[in-house]
Amino acid sequence: MFLTDLFNFKKRCNHEKITPDMECGYCPDCGCFVQNEWYITRCACCGVKLKTAIIKDEIVPQNHYCTNCGNDTYIVEKLEKINFIDINFAVLKKIVTKSVQNLPMTTQCWEERNILQPKLPILSL
Ligand SMILES: [Zn+2]
Ligand SMILES: [Zn+2]
Repeated sequence: MFLTDLFNFKKRCNHEKITPDMECGYCPDCGCFVQNEWYITRCACCGVKLKTAIIKDEIVPQNHYCTNCGNDTYIVEKLEKINFIDINFAVLKKIVTKSVQNLPMTTQCWEERNILQPKLPILSL
């Protein structure tokens, strides 16, 4: 009982409804704007694709050494679109933007219209 309580307390939105096949969208659970970004690592020496993982927010290869040439240097590549071959190597990173940041911009738009409207009857008189 105690463990589940603790788990719920620490729980935050994982934006599960923004599925990996979507490019981006607003999470229906928390209202955040979520962008799906795919990353892959390659061996810096021979260019072979490496299985990728996210460790402490960093995109790194799962193995320390390249299975093709034994090198331990790698490059991180952002994928524009995910395909069936790359999905085995790539890792998905969700970029979250708080929707609250967008609110003042939309409000300003409506305020301007409201200022103009009362002036119209005065001009016609
Ligand atoms: Zn969410
Ligand atoms: Zn290599």
